[in-house]
Amino acid sequence: MSGEQLSLFGPPPPPAAGSGGDGQGPDQGGGGGGDPGGADGSSGQDPAEPLPGQVPLFDGSVAARDVRTLLEALGAEAARCRACGLRNTCRGVVFGEGDPESGIILVGEAPGAVEDELGRPFVGPAGQLLDRILLAVGFRREQVYITNTVLCRPPGNRVPSPEEVAACRAWLDRRLAIMKPYIMVCLGASAARAVLGRDLRITRDRGRWQSLGPMKVMPTFHPAALLRDPSKKRAVWEDMKAVRAEWERLRAGGPPESEGRTA
Ligand code: SF4
Repeated sequence: MSGEQLSLFGPPPPPAAGSGGDGQGPDQGGGGGGDPGGADGSSGQDPAEPLPGQVPLFDGSVAARDVRTLLEALGAEAARCRACGLRNTCRGVVFGEGDPESGIILVGEAPGAVEDELGRPFVGPAGQLLDRILLAVGFRREQVYITNTVLCRPPGNRVPSPEEVAACRAWLDRRLAIMKPYIMVCLGASAARAVLGRDLRITRDRGRWQSLGPMKVMPTFHPAALLRDPSKKRAVWEDMKAVRAEWERLRAGGPPESEGRTA
């Protein structure tokens, strides 16, 4: 990986004491250094510009104008959820945000302290790095949909239990039914395991397209892992380039990319 590519994700924010970030599981964590630079070397596609050959994202089963209304109602319902004990110790449910009609959803593990405080996913140090990763491949944050597999912050940013993940799964599945994204990016092993329902090692399995029904799933490292170990940036860069290329291909109505590892 060249220095220019490494610089795409820009410098990491200074560590915020106790901020946590989205997910602090075994393959995640905060702190660490990074590479100076900005997002100048993006794919060249202005994120605001429509892509050539752009086609409607939905098959007509859910009218595009209904998606946001349905999602808003679901968010209000989720805000009252008490299906597991996590709601007893957090400030509130961090539902998700972004463009539900983009065809792409990014899923992390669980909200951290900053996310719990602000009620938004991925807004701590790891989230700020995620913003730069997205920009590096031509997405503005608000162009994709971002959420977590567990919507309430676990105490001390511990890894959610299997029971908590299972309890919260319906909120993800119900959104997928409304949004019908064709690509999901799982950020970290915990999210990938929760989504795919099988044991998965992120170091071994990142960069390989997986399937969940009709949706293509790309596991990659959690941005918090990159804060801890900047050498993982190359892998995430390759994975996100593949995600962007596949998103453009599917959005244009092209056939899916054949399976295989990004790099
Ligand atoms: S973590 Fe999920 S299942 Fe548990 S209370 Fe929060 S929204 Fe409900």
